Amino acid sequence: MSREGSLEAPTRHPIEWRNEEFYDSAKLDAEMRRVFEICHGCRRCFNLCDSFPRLFDLIDNNPTEDVEGVKSEDFSKVTEACTLCDMCFMTKCPYVPPHPWQVDFPHLLLRHRMVEAREGKTSFTARQLAEMDRNGTLMRAIAPVANWASHRDNSLTRPLMEKTLGIDAHAELPKFVSRTFVASDRHTPIAPNASAPAFGQRKAALFATCFVNYNKPVTGLAARAVLNHVGVETRVAYPGCCGMPFLEQGELDRVAKQAIKVSKELIALVEQGYDIVTLTASCGLMLKFEWPLMGSKAAELLRLIPDTPIDVIERCAGHGGTFGVLKETHSVAMRIGKPVMRQLVNQARGHVVSDCPLAGKHIMQGARELAAQDGKALPAPAAEHPIEVFAHAYGLI
Ligand code: SF4
Ligand code: SF4
Repeated sequence: MSREGSLEAPTRHPIEWRNEEFYDSAKLDAEMRRVFEICHGCRRCFNLCDSFPRLFDLIDNNPTEDVEGVKSEDFSKVTEACTLCDMCFMTKCPYVPPHPWQVDFPHLLLRHRMVEAREGKTSFTARQLAEMDRNGTLMRAIAPVANWASHRDNSLTRPLMEKTLGIDAHAELPKFVSRTFVASDRHTPIAPNASAPAFGQRKAALFATCFVNYNKPVTGLAARAVLNHVGVETRVAYPGCCGMPFLEQGELDRVAKQAIKVSKELIALVEQGYDIVTLTASCGLMLKFEWPLMGSKAAELLRLIPDTPIDVIERCAGHGGTFGVLKETHSVAMRIGKPVMRQLVNQARGHVVSDCPLAGKHIMQGARELAAQDGKALPAPAAEHPIEVFAHAYGLI
């Protein structure tokens, strides 16, 4: 007897990306139609993101009012709206494996993206934005100029970037720093607190992540200060990007290369007794791939701070990496994140916290616009990483 898939943690099958059949367009088309048919009859995910409304519109607005009448070339409209947040797979779908219907909607769209990438259909800008380490290394050398050029108020460069690169002129972009987290850390002498309980007991290696390394070292420094304060011996590791941006583009061979490079260094640290701590949620997900077991760790941590009420906003922020900044998807990303932004304007209590720095930036941009429309004050000028709030609470930063 089959049980509903979501009554237990879903099983995720390995992606068959080395198998040539996986890229067979006719087979993929048949599989997409099979799954779309199931979704058509179910429709539970209608409000999770833009992919499902796009799919249901394609079904409802064709003469047959069925999946059969949807043109295969329109499937990409569904695929391009998916940020690979995994919410449908992890929290909503009753037909995920081990259910015999084997619905894994995000990985199906990822397969479609991979086939499109093979056919050269991925946008030039999206591919360039995914090159995190190359971009970070180049931009840190010219950080003041790069930050001037990418500033949202720059009426000279931003319209030009929109026209030539397809980066939405309204999207806030991350700023680059001249001194990366790895470089800053070398100049910050930190030793574990010998009188704290974890002293001599715990060791943590901070996987810097590209965002913290190239854009926001303060998060990494705060994490190191907090861990050292509670006696944990720390060290920084950044062999390279985890490969998440390549996953978004359907370039699995690049993901595999990054995984080999990063895991080689991290495994050596694990063998020396270090726990691996990632400073960006999506990179942690990439490394662990065990979302059902992770839970709201940031909120759990923040609840340890006395007299500090925490509101958790459990909705998708809509950012999804490059999805949030490209011209064709920026407005969709803002629309998906609107309930979060609205709740933030109405509810937040003095700090806004996100363990995904890009999502934090995106939410704050939308919240700022909503607050201005409603004549309200924003609860905080910028989103912080949970560990930064923790460092404030300890008086370390
Ligand atoms: S993974 Fe997220 S964005 Fe993609 S279809 Fe599922 S809910 Fe929508
Ligand atoms: S992904 Fe699952 S829950 Fe969502 S619409 Fe499709 S069948 Fe229903």
